[in-house]
Amino acid sequence: MKKVTVIASIFLFSILRFQELLHVSSSPHFYGNQVHEESSGGKRNLKQEQENAPEVRCSRDRSRAVWKVIDEYLTPFVEKENYELSKKCRLHPENDMFRDQEEHKIYLDRNEWRCGYCKKSFREEKFIDLHFDKRHYNLLDLSHGKCLADLCGALHCDAAKNSKFSRSKCNPAAAARNRHLCESLADSCFPISEGPSASRLHEVFLHQFCEAHSCSGKHKPFSRGGKDQGSFFRLAVGALVLVLLPVFYLFLYLIQSDMKGRTQELRRISKAGWKAKPA
Ligand SMILES: [Zn+2]
Repeated sequence: MKKVTVIASIFLFSILRFQELLHVSSSPHFYGNQVHEESSGGKRNLKQEQENAPEVRCSRDRSRAVWKVIDEYLTPFVEKENYELSKKCRLHPENDMFRDQEEHKIYLDRNEWRCGYCKKSFREEKFIDLHFDKRHYNLLDLSHGKCLADLCGALHCDAAKNSKFSRSKCNPAAAARNRHLCESLADSCFPISEGPSASRLHEVFLHQFCEAHSCSGKHKPFSRGGKDQGSFFRLAVGALVLVLLPVFYLFLYLIQSDMKGRTQELRRISKAGWKAKPA
């Protein structure tokens, strides 16, 4: 029975390892907004970096949130149509002042981020953000119209960040402003005159982002859906089955061989008993 216990432990261990693997792969690399506790050393770092940072009137966090919304709810449709955004469109990567820096952010593990320009390492994403603000601000294009964060309202990035985002505080004037900005984005990024692909994307854009800018609550943002999030889970389940199946068969095999051993032992005992009885 010892063998069975050993195999049961291996089985349990593989499940635990797999859970760990899933946890790591769903860390900041994928979702980018994990918050860590900071030590006193971390606080010192933050203060030092803040002292020298020049003022940039565009929120990196909100720009990142807008970028995520675009990536999740617009890019799949644009790619499907094989459509190339023009530089006149504010959603073009070159019109995000932080894009180059964000692409030079190397995620190594939960506690290590590396600057792609100077290879310096950081424990948390906020420290590498401050490092970019302080050391590489010369790489920011501060010209007009390059702040993605300005489009946060029009593209519902608060609703995307927080699924419980309340519609009860709807302000009709703000909704109208956002709708106007949203529709002007649709017109500049997907001009209907450019052909069928642009027209289809124009329509998708209105459904995804612009229709929900009303206080009626009739339309929800991102109504056409986003990236296939199910694919990650399908992959995870596939990998789990692949890892556990051989362990399961080994487990069965060992139980069987253990049972066989026991039956043989029982036979031996009963035979011995038969022989012993007449005497
Ligand atoms: Zn650097």
